[in-house]
Amino acid sequence: MIKNSMILMLCLVLIGSFFGTGQLAQAVGEGPNYNGNETIKNERLHSYDEMVNFLEKVEKRSDEMTLEVYGQSIKGRDLYLAKFGEDEDNPTVLFLTQQHGNEALTTESALEIIKYLTNNSKGVKEILENINVLIAPRLNVDGAEGDVNFSLEDYVSGTHTRYNADGFDLNRDHVNRNQPETKALHENVIQKYEPDYMIDFHHQGTQTTLGDTDEYVSGSILYPTNEGVDPDVRERSKQLGAIVYNAVDAKGYGLLSKYRGGTAPTISRNGLALEYGIATLLFEMRGMADHYYEPYVLGQKSNGYLIQQGVTAMKAVLESFVDGSIETVDTSFWDTLPESGSKGEEFEDEH
Ligand SMILES: [Zn+2]
Repeated sequence: MIKNSMILMLCLVLIGSFFGTGQLAQAVGEGPNYNGNETIKNERLHSYDEMVNFLEKVEKRSDEMTLEVYGQSIKGRDLYLAKFGEDEDNPTVLFLTQQHGNEALTTESALEIIKYLTNNSKGVKEILENINVLIAPRLNVDGAEGDVNFSLEDYVSGTHTRYNADGFDLNRDHVNRNQPETKALHENVIQKYEPDYMIDFHHQGTQTTLGDTDEYVSGSILYPTNEGVDPDVRERSKQLGAIVYNAVDAKGYGLLSKYRGGTAPTISRNGLALEYGIATLLFEMRGMADHYYEPYVLGQKSNGYLIQQGVTAMKAVLESFVDGSIETVDTSFWDTLPESGSKGEEFEDEH
């Protein structure tokens, strides 16, 4: 039944794209642009081994970064945390990426930021004098490798999946922590280093629009919306979002909507704010590396600007602790920021 409706939806989408408006000029305006039957080329992304090699190499030549293994995945892959600074008087920010294995570009952004933070520049020195930075790239290391205990034959590329090796959604596991990846993140990163701020980086489908306009967004953001979250924590979360919004909005490719998200504490945006008082932001980038629902999959054309969008967001947040704007930035844009709309058929609300 589910399968049938999926096929029907796929047909509708295919018909839609056949008779559709064709290619738009601007990068953000394009729909799924891998052309449907072309092989998705994900080789440009760091594989797990390449990511580990990169992290180890950077640690070897850097005085600022400490690399830590904070746990293991179901398939026994080590989970890595890159740490910068451990000054108790400074606030701590955590950048988390790829809880969903098929949401890959945000990890590329995180690796770029790791490179940036080890460049010994004056700007970086200032940042690290003011804030401790934790970067946890790719929580779902098994799903990102496609090394899982279920078939990926329905997937467009067959290389990445949202779920961990046992088919669980890690971003629905932040209360019970039944999965080794989420358990390790909570016990060995969050409870140990007590971050004050956290951005959780994801990807959504390719068809999300700014409100009911025709404009495709480059991303969507949201603060914790669970009603139990302390109002001060929510306000600091909105400030975190304002720093990100202002930085991304200033870029030519940047167009953000307000993510339409739920209140469940099992997702990190709500759960971490509720349980630990961490100011959180969800940042959803456009398009996925792989999915069984074709319109979610983004080809290669937009990868560069989406990686940059993540870098821009992270850098802006780090710099906001140098000039103090994280505590003074105006959050009123949230009241007028259009919510996400959708042009095509949305498969379901799972991001
Ligand atoms: Zn996600």
